Formats: sequence, C-alpha cells, structure tokens
Amino acid sequence: QDGMNAQDLGKLLHREPAEIVKKLFMLGVMVNQNQSLDKDTIEILADDYGISAQEKVHEDLSNLDKIFEKEMENTEHLVSRPPVVTIMGHVDHGKTTLLDHLRHSHITEGEAGGITQKMGAYQVRHGDKVITFLDTPGHAAFTEMRARGANITDITILVVAADDGVMPQTIEAINHAKAAKTPIIVAINKIDKPDANPQHVTEQLTEYGLIPEDWGGDTIFVNISAKFGKNIDELLDMIGLEAEMLELKADPEQKAVGSVIEARLDQGKGPMATLLVQQGTLRVGDPIVVGHTFGRVRAMTNERGRELKKATPSMPVSITGLNDVPEAGDRFVVFADEKTARAVGEERAKEAQVQERRKTTRVTLDSLFDSL
Ligand code: GDP
Ligand code: MG
Repeated sequence: QDGMNAQDLGKLLHREPAEIVKKLFMLGVMVNQNQSLDKDTIEILADDYGISAQEKVHEDLSNLDKIFEKEMENTEHLVSRPPVVTIMGHVDHGKTTLLDHLRHSHITEGEAGGITQKMGAYQVRHGDKVITFLDTPGHAAFTEMRARGANITDITILVVAADDGVMPQTIEAINHAKAAKTPIIVAINKIDKPDANPQHVTEQLTEYGLIPEDWGGDTIFVNISAKFGKNIDELLDMIGLEAEMLELKADPEQKAVGSVIEARLDQGKGPMATLLVQQGTLRVGDPIVVGHTFGRVRAMTNERGRELKKATPSMPVSITGLNDVPEAGDRFVVFADEKTARAVGEERAKEAQVQERRKTTRVTLDSLFDSL
C-alpha cells in the first residue's frame, strides 16, 4: 500500500475527505485528497480528532446515572417496598426447581395459570406481603449486573443441596452476596432425600461465617424440599422477616427510575425490556430513556401477561415502545416530556456510537502505525 491519503483517513475517522483536507490545511499541511500522508501528519490529525485521548475513554456514565442516583436519594414520601430476592447456589442444587415452585404456587389472587411469559423476574404473594424474585440465569448475570453498577438485589437465597453440601459455586455465591452486601438466607434443599444431611451442611457453612441463630450466629437457615414444596412458606416467612429488618423503602410519588433486567427484540412487538422499578411509579405513556435507547412506554405487562397501567417500586414489568434494544443492567429514567427523552436518548446513542467508533479507530490506527 502506498500510504494513507485524506480519503482513506476520512473513511477511518468517519469524516468527509474534504473535511480532512480542510483540517490539514488549518494545521499547515497542504495536500489533496489523494496525496499520501506521512505518519506524523496522520498522528497530528488523529490527535486533533481526539483519538489519542482514547486511552481515557471509558464507559461514560454521564447523565442517566447521575439522575438515577439523585432520584434514589429522594426520600420525600417513603413507603415500604417489596424485597428483591436472588436465588443462588451450586448447579443442580435446586435453584430452578425452587423458582418454578414459587411461580406456580404463590401467584397473586385472580391470576391463576401461572407465568405466561419468561421475563427475568416475577412477584409472588405470601400472606399480605409481596416478594420480587429475580430469575437470572446463573451467577454470571448477577456479577454482570453488579459490574455495571446495578445492585438491585436486597436479599440472596443460598440454595445448598442437603445431600451434596458446600460446592465451588456455593462459595462463589457466598462471595457474590458478601461483595454486594446483601444478607444471605440459607435454604438447605432436598431434605426429602434419604441421604440428606442438613446438619453437616450447616456445619460446613459456618466455616464461611454463615452461622444459624441457635448456634449463636445471625444467619437464617431453612430446610426445604423445593421438589415437594416442603417448608416453602417458612422460607417466604423468613424473607419477609429479613425484609422488615432491612426497612426497604421507596418513594412512589416521583418519576420512575430503575434498571433493565433483560431485553430482547420481539418479531412482532419490537424492542422489549423487562424493567425493575426502583423508585417512583412508571406509567403507560411515560417518556423514557433506557440505557442509550428511548421512547414512550407503549404497553406494560407483568409476568402473567396482564396489562398494567402503572408499576410501583420493586415491580418488574415488561415494556414495549423503545426505539432500540437496551442492555441488562442499563438504567432507565422517566422524563417530563418526550422531546427531552428523545434528545437525551439520541445524545446517549451518539455517545455510545462515538465511543465504539473510537475504539475501532484506535485499533486500526495502532496497527497502521505499526506497519509504517
Ligand atoms: P439448579 O441447577 O440449581 O437450577 O437445579 P435444578 O432445580 O435444575 O435441580 C436439579 C435436580 O435436582 C433436578 O432433577 C430436580 O428435580 C432435583 N431437585 C431439586 N430440588 C429437589 C428437592 O427438593 N428434592 C429432590 N429429591 N430433588 C430435587
Ligand atoms: Mg437451574
């Protein structure tokens, strides 16, 4: 290759070649579009476009996170909210069985038929209390969400099989919960099995600082059988107790903010996102920015496919009406009007694009310089 000219560079930087030539002229370099440029010139130009500053480019958590944090601190009309619970534990210890049992047995009155759509979170009713369960596939999702700053879990249920005991992912789960500073409730599962030894499992767990109350500690332990629905009500009681101690509160009277639990593109409905409302009340028609997407909440449904008009704190809802698919862990913020939401959304989409572009350009330029 005969070196780069303004045209090549234009392509690389996503600029018109004429603009590159003009820029070069301003920098005191006079060339036409087809003249090849030397390394120094390319570097100066790249610098001028802010490319060299790219080491500093990181995930820009601009506006949206600031608004989110501010709204989360808003404590004017606090009322208690349901706890958000994540179930973790070693593979095959019974997480899915427990989640399935809960979603079929403890559904809200008048909503018979169980879950009709998989949306990454659902609520169950227990007595006069509501509990939100996150149905995240494995620990990866939990870690990923946390890495992105979305610490949405209030309580971790650690499922340990009574016939298998503490395993590598049990320890991993304990560490995740500790890092996220969420209290752990231990559910020793499969106690129906002949070789179940809950006593032994409890002893094992004390080595990780999980000590039951009657042994002088402060961790809640419940022996359950997820498969046969044994002691599930006791487990829910304990979640309720723990939630009360945490005094979880939110202000439903402000504009809604929260996090994306999952999102996908539906063939018919377009972008769909499951949002967890963390503060305020989300309503159909609300202008909204979600990550770097935006829109107006068109339809809002719960995990049973029921259409909702509004969603209060700790409620997971599936929404349509976004211009694009956001990512799990993204924040959402409701704006006063659609114009602002669109402007913010477009700005954020542009920012994300520029960053992506810069990353690619940086790599391309680096390899270019290496080959010079
Ligand atoms: P996960 O990998 O933690 O989601 O575990 P699963 O829920 O998929 O359960 C793994 C296996 O253990 C399945 O065959 C379940 O039927 C079984 N299982 C789960 N809970 C119980 C239980 O309480 N008792 C018995 N006997 N088997 C269980
Ligand atoms: Mg599973």
